[in-house]
Amino acid sequence: MTDSPTAVTSPTAVSPAVTAPVRERALSLPAEQLPAYLYDLGALRGHAAAVREALPERVELYYAAKANPEPEVLTALSPHVDGFEVSSGGELAHTAKAVPDRPLAFGGPGKTPAETAAALAAGVARFHVESAHELRMLAALAAERPAPAPPVAVLLRFNLPLSDGALRASALSMGGRPTPFGLDPSEAGDVMRFLTGGSCPRLRVHGVHAHLASGLGAAAQLAVAESVVSWAVRLFEHHGVPLHEVNVGGGMAVDYADPGARFDWAGYGAGLAGLTEDHPDVRLRIEPGRALTAYCGWYATEVLDVKRSHGEDFAVVRGGTHHLRTPATKGHDQPCAVLTVAGWPHAWPRPAARGDTVTVAGQLCTPKDVLARRVPAPGLRAGDRLVFALAGAYAWNISHHDFLMHPRPGFHFLDG
Ligand SMILES: *Cc1c(COP(=O)(O)O)cnc(C)c1O
Repeated sequence: MTDSPTAVTSPTAVSPAVTAPVRERALSLPAEQLPAYLYDLGALRGHAAAVREALPERVELYYAAKANPEPEVLTALSPHVDGFEVSSGGELAHTAKAVPDRPLAFGGPGKTPAETAAALAAGVARFHVESAHELRMLAALAAERPAPAPPVAVLLRFNLPLSDGALRASALSMGGRPTPFGLDPSEAGDVMRFLTGGSCPRLRVHGVHAHLASGLGAAAQLAVAESVVSWAVRLFEHHGVPLHEVNVGGGMAVDYADPGARFDWAGYGAGLAGLTEDHPDVRLRIEPGRALTAYCGWYATEVLDVKRSHGEDFAVVRGGTHHLRTPATKGHDQPCAVLTVAGWPHAWPRPAARGDTVTVAGQLCTPKDVLARRVPAPGLRAGDRLVFALAGAYAWNISHHDFLMHPRPGFHFLDG
């Protein structure tokens, strides 16, 4: 052990259960073809089907494409979801191509006029309007469309209050405090009057959208959903307008410290069922990203070097946080499993860990390039392989790929 202050506390690392297709591919790829992202599409389908099954029939499930927009992932999810939420013109074009003719909801702050026009031309099913300015832009662009175009269904995104408990429990909060997301509740009267006063006949006010926090467990998510729905019901009643839909967002928790844990979809689904019974005319919609795709993705790599530094063992692997930035940005240890490799093809000696735990770093010249600290891996050697779990969401696509110009990982969509 070391007397370095950072070594004092470490959560007990839980080794993830590597699925058979991932284990087989992670061991069979030549070292030069590592690192690699391995996506277990069978596992993804099974998980998405279980999520859908746990939800009441009347609750619509959209997938937030930004969590992982790989076309193979979108295609595998498509039969299990009611549509896709896209948050940019790029995601819109990409998703429309990958999963043609599926309903799309277009959200995200800072929509440009060109993106808005493209979304109108693509016939997106819902516009999630983030500001009064955006609403006026959308009304003007919708009015320019040729006459038979159907009215555009608008959900008004509001930044509604969150309980102190929910704010504290969330990993990230997009609402309940000053943020650039959605409309301030104080603007509700003005935008409702604008939408219903006859000045924008091509827009139809359909309901409310709120994506307020991420990382909440089922009970906290449900409490947020209930408060959003009751706020929306009161707003629409006050303006005498039928409320058709409330989208309560995504943000269902993924526990990076416990890779076998899952969000309580059954409990959440039962709570949503109660909510739909209380409000039979309102369609509820959710749009998770992370909690749908995190589990299907694995980042497999090879240990290049093992060394001891000031009393602590380090393994340096091919790749790093420029491919899998999630542990660096979220400040966690990415759960990882060791796949021991017996052979050593080189003429020089094979370095091995001396202690029981090893901190796994990547190839970048920065101390932030750490994938997992103090992983239980006694005797870990160069040439062994590591597979990092929960790398199916906000992993490759949020990472800074070009920093240091190392090669890109391979991508394997395992379907067997
Ligand atoms: C990112 C995002 C989601 C998905 O969030 P997760 O935490 O991945 O479930 C849903 N809705 C909106 C508006 C988002 O920005």
